[in-house]
Amino acid sequence: MAMGERRYSLRGCEFSAEFTTGIVTRFCPFCLAEDRDGQAWPNAAMRHRLLWRLSPVRTCRKHNIPLINVRMGKWTDMLHEVQAMNDAVTAGCVSAQKLPSRIPSPLQEYAEGRLEGQAGPAWLDGQGIDQACRAVHILGGLMTYGSAQRAAEMTEDMWDEAGRTGWPVVRDGEDAIREIISTQLLSAIKKNGHPSPRNAFGMLYGWLFASKLSKDPGPIRDIVRDVIVDNVPLVPGQMLLGKQITTPRFASITSIAKAEHLHSKTLTKILELAGVINETEPLKGAPNVVADYAKAKPLIERAKHATPVTRVPDMLSASRPLVAALIELGQLRRIQDHDELKSKVGKAIDGRSIDEVLKFIEGRFEVLDVIPVGHVHLAKAAEKTRVTLLAILELLFGQHLKNVYRLKDHHGFEAVMVSPTEIMKCIEDPPDNASDEIRFWMG
Ligand SMILES: [Zn+2]
Repeated sequence: MAMGERRYSLRGCEFSAEFTTGIVTRFCPFCLAEDRDGQAWPNAAMRHRLLWRLSPVRTCRKHNIPLINVRMGKWTDMLHEVQAMNDAVTAGCVSAQKLPSRIPSPLQEYAEGRLEGQAGPAWLDGQGIDQACRAVHILGGLMTYGSAQRAAEMTEDMWDEAGRTGWPVVRDGEDAIREIISTQLLSAIKKNGHPSPRNAFGMLYGWLFASKLSKDPGPIRDIVRDVIVDNVPLVPGQMLLGKQITTPRFASITSIAKAEHLHSKTLTKILELAGVINETEPLKGAPNVVADYAKAKPLIERAKHATPVTRVPDMLSASRPLVAALIELGQLRRIQDHDELKSKVGKAIDGRSIDEVLKFIEGRFEVLDVIPVGHVHLAKAAEKTRVTLLAILELLFGQHLKNVYRLKDHHGFEAVMVSPTEIMKCIEDPPDNASDEIRFWMG
């Protein structure tokens, strides 16, 4: 039954036109000869068989011979009028006798069985019957005839052989397929030391990477993509087989640097120090040095946001003791998770934590032209109350101080005004989660 857009349905299985023989008429000469011979009306007795229309059906299961493919080159080809092929039937009977017999391939058995409603291997049953057969054919074609073989130059006998080679792998499921594809990929290593999917995959590449891939190739595409991601350096953000690879497993230093807006020398240094680049490998120049991007990403993030601690007072309009207290309180984060990285970035603060602190003080407190009497800067409050800046900041960031204001037209901590009286009250009656620092001042 035609479903439109070159798709058909047979016994509940839907497939594309490529799953049929198209304008090629496929038949078993012995079957047709049996129909015809000895009949009063031989032409009326000859019957084309439905299964002969399907591309993976290449062997007659009654006579165990390869089916014959005929194309007359006439418009009537599409009608599969076997009556017009009497000569080919007779010639086929002669030539078939000289051929060794051949039983139907397991792939043909599978396709016929599936149309009968039988269950097959799970990986195959999980996709369209045409996708399943195509995957077996292409994988088997690559395995049998190598990456130099073009799909367009394959004969029907070669496809049959390809189906037989691919079958046991595909029958075993995803892991077995991945293994084969992986081995295939690693067999084609370029001069730069990286595998080349184009050289390795041959007809599989031609199929999946076709610029006009009109039909969904099914789950084999995901497996091929995974294998490539696992083994080939990619450009961050590039499209690969229908999916964007934001953070590739491997990427060249050059492409990571570009994606991260870093100089490639800076990046190389960071990655070397962090041990993400294998230093034992011969130096190949930034375009060819490859890093594990997933491992590098957090290091890059930190390095990108590293702000020298000496710049922080200006950025927050805060005194050095205040900055020191913010670091001790954990509101400002040091970049020191990695010992090697520490020596490279020195005493640096994660710029993201600076932003968070600024956001906190700028977003939370009322801005006033005139500050109520008794409110003072944090340093002054520390002086008056004899409580450490650390304790006052803990109360401030813990939101235990309710009467905090910001002086209009002032930046950062220069704007923050607190009430020493309120601080003392908090110290005398500390919040439940108060630290030892605050409890120390309770006296
Ligand atoms: Zn036959």
